[in-house]
Amino acid sequence: TGSGIVHIAPGHGEEDFYAGKKWNLAIFCPVNEEGKFTSQAKAFEGLKVFEANDIIIEKLKTDNLLVSKSTIAHSYPHCWRCKNPVIFRATHQWFLKVDFDNLRAKLIEAADKVNWFPPNGKERITSMLNLRPDWCLSRQRYWGTPIMAFYCKKCNSLQKDYTIIKKWQERVNLEGSDFWFSEPIEKLLPENYKCECGSKEFYKEKDILDVWLDSGVSWYSVIKNKLGQEYYPVDVYLEGSDQHRGWFQTSLIPSVALNKVPPYKNVITHGFVLDEHGKAMHKSLGNVVSPQEVIDKYGADILRLWVALSDYNDDVRISGKLLEGPVDTYRKIRNTFRYLLGNLSDYKPSKNKINADKLLEFDLYMLTRLFKLSREVSDFYGNFEYRSAMKAINDFCICDLSSFYLDALKDRLYTMPLDSIERRSAQSVLYEILKSLLIMTSPVLSFTAEEAWQIFKKDIDPDLSQSVFLNDWPEFSVEVSPLLTEKWNKIMAIREKVLKLLEDLRQKREIGSSVEAEVFLKFPEKEFDFFKGSESDMTLAFIVSDCHIEKDENLNYM
Ligand SMILES: [Zn+2]
Ligand SMILES: [Zn+2]
Repeated sequence: TGSGIVHIAPGHGEEDFYAGKKWNLAIFCPVNEEGKFTSQAKAFEGLKVFEANDIIIEKLKTDNLLVSKSTIAHSYPHCWRCKNPVIFRATHQWFLKVDFDNLRAKLIEAADKVNWFPPNGKERITSMLNLRPDWCLSRQRYWGTPIMAFYCKKCNSLQKDYTIIKKWQERVNLEGSDFWFSEPIEKLLPENYKCECGSKEFYKEKDILDVWLDSGVSWYSVIKNKLGQEYYPVDVYLEGSDQHRGWFQTSLIPSVALNKVPPYKNVITHGFVLDEHGKAMHKSLGNVVSPQEVIDKYGADILRLWVALSDYNDDVRISGKLLEGPVDTYRKIRNTFRYLLGNLSDYKPSKNKINADKLLEFDLYMLTRLFKLSREVSDFYGNFEYRSAMKAINDFCICDLSSFYLDALKDRLYTMPLDSIERRSAQSVLYEILKSLLIMTSPVLSFTAEEAWQIFKKDIDPDLSQSVFLNDWPEFSVEVSPLLTEKWNKIMAIREKVLKLLEDLRQKREIGSSVEAEVFLKFPEKEFDFFKGSESDMTLAFIVSDCHIEKDENLNYM
């Protein structure tokens, strides 16, 4: 039940405003910025809106216009900061019209050309661009980036004299924009400047620009204008996942509107850092892990490694306990550097280097694995997959080096004559491995890689560049026959099985270490022919005392 009467005030609320627009109602707003009635409210002029209620009701009563009066309890918007009730007023603001000149479609098209990491960022921003309202650019604050517009005092018309605005722009470039606030408008205009209505009196726009526009044109002020045109669009914008609505969008809009291109090639979003239980960090909860504390305790490389190993697409947890993983990984990689440096101590590349075509096959094969790693890691870095990059490097240190290659080399490095080809061949490859690993890890383990590089340069190769950071990415420059790679991949597969058998024998205490074992392998004819002559390679790879292969007619497959 009710009267059926609908109250609508197009000057005092968003829905009412749009309904008023639709039905051609006047946008009547008799309240000023102080919350007081204006002269449009006639007898009530000067009264504060909330204080006027009783007086207005009294007036209705005396004029015999009041039908009924009662009190209804309902919710009402309040200021989140000072908790006072809010008054809605329709006001004049500056807008960027998103549908002007087909801009919305251009924005969506531009966003489509950007690489979004993770990929669902594209959907997010596209749906937001589809729905976003016009951008209200003006704010009512005392100071900020001014909107340099001015109006005629007599007819209130906005003056559109671009030569004047151009002059102001030149001044801003030289001295900043504060003169707008400190100088009266008469000083800012050329003498004899007149409005079309003939008036010579003007007033300044008092509004400032939305700070999101300030940050939204950083691609211009910081990059295009200062660094140079060639850096625009920039490679990466990187922010939390809340910025699809914020900075990513407010940067895209001016760039596309002005230059028809997005300001960035790649946009990466990341989650937030939480405590070990997945709770947001607050000083009051005492669960804050400060980066500085981690750096003081473990060093910056560990913190960076922890970040690199995290899945940054989601929120990430951190605690002393969760740092143990990265600390462990760090130690393994660092120990690898130390081991390699130690085993190169008598190696001088200018004198002792064995060229690729003279390397032992086993060593050459390791070189191919190293460069396979380098290509993988390069791709991972290129796709901002730091976790995969560091995992691949870590796996290489553990699986390829520590438990395989370095183990297999011990004999050669420690028992062969210093200048033997066997030893120098191994060292030539260890040299490449160390150099490549240092370059590959330097983006994350920057201090450690540089420290090792300086020792590397001082003790082993003075021809190395001044810093690990002054290198090109390690590229493979040696041709290797596919047959060799195939053979060694097969030997590595057989090795898995041999290791299992050796482990069983060790368990049964029939052998101590693998070098006490001799291996006999049986192959069908085709494989036998393939592996003929590879016994010594297998001996090296399996780390056994000897290896024999036989043909077995009864076998048809491996
Ligand atoms: Zn307030
Ligand atoms: Zn005028």
